[in-house]
Amino acid sequence: MLPYETLQEAEFSLRRNLTFAETLWFKYSSRKSDYFLYCHNTIFLFIFYTLLPLPYVVAELMRSKKIDKFKIQPKMKNSLSDMLTCYRKVIQTFVLAIGPLQLFSYPVIERIGIRTGLPLPSGSELFWQLLVYFLVEDYANYWLHRLLHFKWGYEKIHSVHHEYTAPIGFAAPYAHWAEIIILGFASFLGPMIVPGHMITFWLWMILRQVEAIETHSGYDFPWSPTKYIPFYGGAIYHDYHHYVGGKSQSNFASVFTYCDYIYGTDKGYRYQKEVFEKVTQSTLQ
Ligand SMILES: [Zn+2]
Ligand SMILES: [Zn+2]
Repeated sequence: MLPYETLQEAEFSLRRNLTFAETLWFKYSSRKSDYFLYCHNTIFLFIFYTLLPLPYVVAELMRSKKIDKFKIQPKMKNSLSDMLTCYRKVIQTFVLAIGPLQLFSYPVIERIGIRTGLPLPSGSELFWQLLVYFLVEDYANYWLHRLLHFKWGYEKIHSVHHEYTAPIGFAAPYAHWAEIIILGFASFLGPMIVPGHMITFWLWMILRQVEAIETHSGYDFPWSPTKYIPFYGGAIYHDYHHYVGGKSQSNFASVFTYCDYIYGTDKGYRYQKEVFEKVTQSTLQ
């Protein structure tokens, strides 16, 4: 809730006119509690999780030679009912684990100082904070994911996520509820280290979900804008981790490739990639 009654009061306090975005934010949030604004995150997660995989669902249902060129494991096919079953199971976990986690994590958000007031973060503040969140999460997620590949963690928890040896968009958050909580911790680390605005937090959670759905989509489209992000792993990179399955000691990182490179857990993948590229080139010649 903003500490101003009117736009004029806000402008007087900031000693300048509000920007268009700040005026919108004032009108939307001024009478809403910080807790209610934080709960928007759960709604965004649900909406984006439901809508973003839909183009991949359509591609899967319209499979043809043209579409198969972009399918990472072209022999694998998923029916509508397979994909809806995955969606239904994720929504069940969502209600059981992510929903309560979002609601009860509010004291942490309050304590670390995620702000809801004015001014809104500048474009550069937003960019640098999101970059820090991605880097911190990627590093923490790498190690937590790697730990989950030890026998106990894999058998009891992580094997659920690996039921999909050829992942689909809806399978991005398909996991044991304990894994959602363990890896969810990594998503909170960045905002804990560099607390920002609630809008930055929403955007962070949305972008992380967009990234997870793309890397689990099972498709590699050459026109994807993520191709221009340095050290970005992408769909083929994570698909390989699922393809190898439980014994996978490769490609643990969730977003970037640098952790696997530094700790030498991408050797198998790089070798396979080289072999695959040589075979493709020789068949084209
Ligand atoms: Zn794994
Ligand atoms: Zn995965």
